[in-house]
Amino acid sequence: MTEALARSWSDAATVPFWLDAPDAPEPAEALAGDTDTDLVIVGGGFTGLWAAIQAKELDPTRDVVLLEQDTVGFGASGRNGGFLDGSLTHGLRNGVDRFPEEIRTIERYAAENFAGIRDAIERYGIECDWTPTGTMAVAVEPYQVEQLRGAEELLRSFDQKVRFLDQDEVRAEVASPTYRAGIWDRTGTGLLDPGRLADGLRTAAERLGVRIFEGTPAEALEPHADRIDVRTPHGRVRARRVLLATSAFPPLLRAIRRYVVPVYDYALVTEPLSAEQRAAIGWRRRQGLSDGANQFHYYRLTHDDRILYGGYDAVYRYGGPVSSALDDDDHTFARLSAHFFHTFPQLRGLRFAYRWGGAIDTSSRFSVFFGSAHAGRVAYAVGYTGLGVGATRFGARVALDLLDGRETEATRLRYVRRRPMPFPPEPLRYGVVRLTQNRMAAADRNAGRRGVWLRALDALGLGFDS
Ligand SMILES: Cc1cc2nc3c(=O)[nH]c(=O)nc-3n(C[C@H](O)[C@H](O)[C@H](O)COP(=O)(O)OP(=O)(O)OC[C@H]3O[C@@H](n4cnc5c(N)ncnc54)[C@H](O)[C@@H]3O)c2cc1C
Repeated sequence: MTEALARSWSDAATVPFWLDAPDAPEPAEALAGDTDTDLVIVGGGFTGLWAAIQAKELDPTRDVVLLEQDTVGFGASGRNGGFLDGSLTHGLRNGVDRFPEEIRTIERYAAENFAGIRDAIERYGIECDWTPTGTMAVAVEPYQVEQLRGAEELLRSFDQKVRFLDQDEVRAEVASPTYRAGIWDRTGTGLLDPGRLADGLRTAAERLGVRIFEGTPAEALEPHADRIDVRTPHGRVRARRVLLATSAFPPLLRAIRRYVVPVYDYALVTEPLSAEQRAAIGWRRRQGLSDGANQFHYYRLTHDDRILYGGYDAVYRYGGPVSSALDDDDHTFARLSAHFFHTFPQLRGLRFAYRWGGAIDTSSRFSVFFGSAHAGRVAYAVGYTGLGVGATRFGARVALDLLDGRETEATRLRYVRRRPMPFPPEPLRYGVVRLTQNRMAAADRNAGRRGVWLRALDALGLGFDS
């Protein structure tokens, strides 16, 4: 690493850009004492917030409590790329491969969910820099151009508005010498500021009467004949129903631990670009960008013309720890910054103002799954695997339907009823995840060709992603 590169990120603040907002709401008080409720939601990320709002929309008389161990939006929801993708299956390709009989229905739900998010943002007056520019996947290796052609065909067969761009066209959109082609998808994708979305959903939930307690970790579930108690350090919530929305954090149910591994993803945000820097990269239409390998980057402009650049490394650590100490990772930031300046050599000298990481709730099917426990009085929606900004609203709604005993077309889907293949316990878990990552990196170096290990996983419908 050259010194100039190291200097580009070493002074960056180690907080998520989106959470460094002077106008963020004051944190709520922690729970002190015992309280009764109809529904307690554990986790104040998008899943928990959408669950709280929809629970009240479905039945305004129901009492709802939301417990957040830190502050609302502290988890992945406040530290992601802000790419809102309608897909409920971590992309159409994954959905077609895993749920071929149901994918048309799932896609219908995906479109309804996307529209539902837009409506709620409008209805509750949430200012979250909604930017309906679509997203563009770019090819940076020759073999990826063919892959984009295949993706274009698949998206078109599902009536998505998508455009293939050749090398000149894609570089005319965004000036990177690394681009060979692109596809620009304008159906059901957009960008937003996830921090402002979390704040806005929180305010909406409070207005609907949801009681939010921050700084309140749920420590255990204690089942009784007629209720479940959620134990916290300074009080109990005695609840008729419990919805767990704890993502990659240590779960309150052992069952979840079998299906979810916390994988760290990291991002950098630059200083605001000057007018000359801005002009040097084009990008007038502000699409969200990603490049096309197994190990991929995602990047976008912010409202004040910074660039957020993240992805590539997906770090799983032995035993799956989740801790703020892991939000910083020199090795990954060194690599990310080198890749950034390779993509945009004209921006050399630009510095990064923010750096952070966050845990992703990776499941072997790459998409949310559901379950319940304690005679159906506890339900959960976890496993979004790095694509949950949009899918969390749907995940929350299905978990509510399961808790309320409401049978719907969605709750009858195999997609909802089936769980992913579990990960093996440690120490095998670490070995399997690392081997899979290693083979994915090898496939990227080898023109996308998947070796024996990855093909065996494909055949079993298993995988690993971030
Ligand atoms: C770096 C990064 C980039 C990403 N980029 C994108 C993207 O661009 N687009 C996209 O669609 N997705 C992206 N994702 C994924 C997306 O952010 C998540 O899928 C989504 O936010 C998950 O929301 P959630 O509410 O389920 O989880 P979280 O937001 O993680 O919320 C879980 C909450 O539960 C709380 N909690 C946990 N345990 C307890 C407990 N015992 N008691 C009380 N509270 C508890 C946590 O503090 C946390 O606030 C990214 C994720 C990361 C980390």
